[in-house]
Amino acid sequence: MVKKIGKNYECEDCKLLYVDKAWAQKCEEFCIRHKACNLAITKHSINLKKLH
Ligand SMILES: [Zn+2]
Repeated sequence: MVKKIGKNYECEDCKLLYVDKAWAQKCEEFCIRHKACNLAITKHSINLKKLH
């Protein structure tokens, strides 16, 4: 299950954060199915370094 963290959504498998819940869900589906991340999806994740 995608987890809501503050205003963002976390892929429970790879722990990447997304602003858009739809991307977090896509990421999680891919991560669970393939046991790996899809760069086409993870590029939509939040770069934590940019938040600070
Ligand atoms: Zn993921």
